[in-house]
Amino acid sequence: MPIHYDDFISSEEMRAEAWRRKFVLDDATKGVKPNLAHHALVKLTEQGHLAAVVTQNIDGLHLAAGMPEDRLIEIHGNGTYAKCLSCDCRYNLNWVRERYEATKQSPLCEAGGGYVKSATISFGQAMPFEKMRRAEQLAAQADVFLALGSSLVVYPAAALPVIAKRNGAVLVIVNREPTELDAIADVLISGNLGDVFATFQQH
Ligand SMILES: [Zn+2]
Repeated sequence: MPIHYDDFISSEEMRAEAWRRKFVLDDATKGVKPNLAHHALVKLTEQGHLAAVVTQNIDGLHLAAGMPEDRLIEIHGNGTYAKCLSCDCRYNLNWVRERYEATKQSPLCEAGGGYVKSATISFGQAMPFEKMRRAEQLAAQADVFLALGSSLVVYPAAALPVIAKRNGAVLVIVNREPTELDAIADVLISGNLGDVFATFQQH
């Protein structure tokens, strides 16, 4: 069961449990590197073809691949660092881990004692309004909208291709499985993202 935002706020036991799980997960996914698709998107951005990337991923791999921060909208946040819920300042995960492992307690912000949480959007936590607004604007202005590696069921992100399409964009969907929006796609490519980008790269 994922830890609900309200439980994180109200219970030290839940905060400590959230950090315990976070570090188990981080150890299990340690060493994961950006793939061909991440790199291809950076290249498309550098070439001026891509206005921005909106992602539901929290693994930070777009940034690791070199995507400029101002072109990246991480609507579910970023799990590679932590933030104080009171003052919004950033904390390195190593800083959190040292304190958690020494005390088995969740650390508090050094500035004002606020709760420090992984910089992701938890269940029950409000979506970042500004980021969503910007993503919707970009979708409305797009000539081409690429929906990559998403089943397009999780809202509000799944609304973006619909907004783009309604405003005249060509909608390209690339996914391994059928998506909720296949019926309105102009181009539908079924396959693994890495394979699809590898194929394009050869041409
Ligand atoms: Zn703080």
